[in-house]
Amino acid sequence: MLSADFGNLERDVKMIGSSKAGWMHIDVMDGVFVPNISFGFPVLKAMVDANERLIVDTHLMITEPERYLKRFAEAGSDYITFHIEATYRVRECIDIIHGCGARAGLSIKPGTDISVVEPFLSMLDMVLVMSVEPGFGGQKFIEASLEKVVALREMIDSRNLDTIIEVDGGIGSKNAAGLYAAGANILVAGNAVFKAEDPLREIELILGL
Ligand code: ZN
Repeated sequence: MLSADFGNLERDVKMIGSSKAGWMHIDVMDGVFVPNISFGFPVLKAMVDANERLIVDTHLMITEPERYLKRFAEAGSDYITFHIEATYRVRECIDIIHGCGARAGLSIKPGTDISVVEPFLSMLDMVLVMSVEPGFGGQKFIEASLEKVVALREMIDSRNLDTIIEVDGGIGSKNAAGLYAAGANILVAGNAVFKAEDPLREIELILGL
């Protein structure tokens, strides 16, 4: 939703709701963990209120997420993902999210090795691989992210886990198939959808339909 028209958020939430997409991805930025500020609780709540069927997938790009996890759960998040680079209290964050009845995701920036998620993998519902530097929409996909997805898929499968792999940044119909083939389950698309002439069709193409 970072690429949506903020003057018409309700319309854009309903547009995604009428598409083949299953999830609504919300990027929260605090101006500290990333050099940009996006939106906070009232705007998140407005999007949740406009949403009827999409899974609400909140991606926190904020420092010390442990301070706000409960509020993001209460605001209607189904999944809450935080960054391993943003806290020393990863286990505690996962426990807080689960304690609120939400699903927990852990994200890594492009420069972070996937091995850091390994100790937490069995506790996680999702790992989010950032395929651009977090902070801004409209960036170019970093090709090395594909290898990360392949390695992560192997790590998850070799442990017989059902952890979801989500990839976020620079994704559209041009590179989606390769990411699914590499083992990704969920792809986040922003600009590719909202800047497309036909957003609903672009979503279908991303999904391989
Ligand atoms: Zn995101």
